[in-house]
Amino acid sequence: MSGIYKIYHDSHRLMHEATLVKGARFPRCRQCGLRVKFSLARSIQDDHLIPPFQPTAILEPYEQEESGLGAAI
Ligand SMILES: [Zn+2]
Repeated sequence: MSGIYKIYHDSHRLMHEATLVKGARFPRCRQCGLRVKFSLARSIQDDHLIPPFQPTAILEPYEQEESGLGAAI
């Protein structure tokens, strides 16, 4: 579901929030990886109001873990 999610980390960072669009995979934490937990705080009905997820200093797109492995960059 699209909306604002509370994001709980594995003790290295306090809870924070991010907007995520329905159907997108939850981002991964750069530090605690898949141990990060997401909890919907407020749903948003109109997906067009939500900007696409932008990687931050804390979060990266989930897909990067798989597609980035072994890539020659
Ligand atoms: Zn984390």
